[in-house]
Amino acid sequence: MPIDATEPYHADNIFAKILRGEIPSSKVYEDEWAYAFEDINPQAEIHTLVIPKGEYVSWDDFSTSASAEEIAGFVRAVGKVARDKGLVEPGYRLLANVGAHGGQEVPHFHVHIFGGQSLGRMIA
Ligand code: 5GP
Repeated sequence: MPIDATEPYHADNIFAKILRGEIPSSKVYEDEWAYAFEDINPQAEIHTLVIPKGEYVSWDDFSTSASAEEIAGFVRAVGKVARDKGLVEPGYRLLANVGAHGGQEVPHFHVHIFGGQSLGRMIA
């Protein structure tokens, strides 16, 4: 069920629970700003999620309210995860769903990294 990206942050969402270690995840990378883990229902050969450690509902919330340090740290983490997975030379795709039309289901901002195969056109 897609979320309303204008709603306030709720700390009971599934990615907040993953960040707190309350539910397991397949960890890929972690630093001060970001946590990366494998998507539970992969849509490509490689499908990794990167989330900021701060409490932001969506790209809209993050881009509006996160500090410059948080934004820089998060963006560098996304790049590092893709680089460390060897995706730069073959190429990859980033995706951030926002709200209902974007199909966003988890109300903690996240970027999808897709790779490991040719990904076709932008939108199926
Ligand atoms: P969205 O549609 O919000 O952009 O994407 C949410 C993503 O989170 C989906 O690709 C879904 O498979 C993934 N996901 C949902 N619940 C869990 C979970 O408990 N663990 C992991 N690793 N991924 C999840």
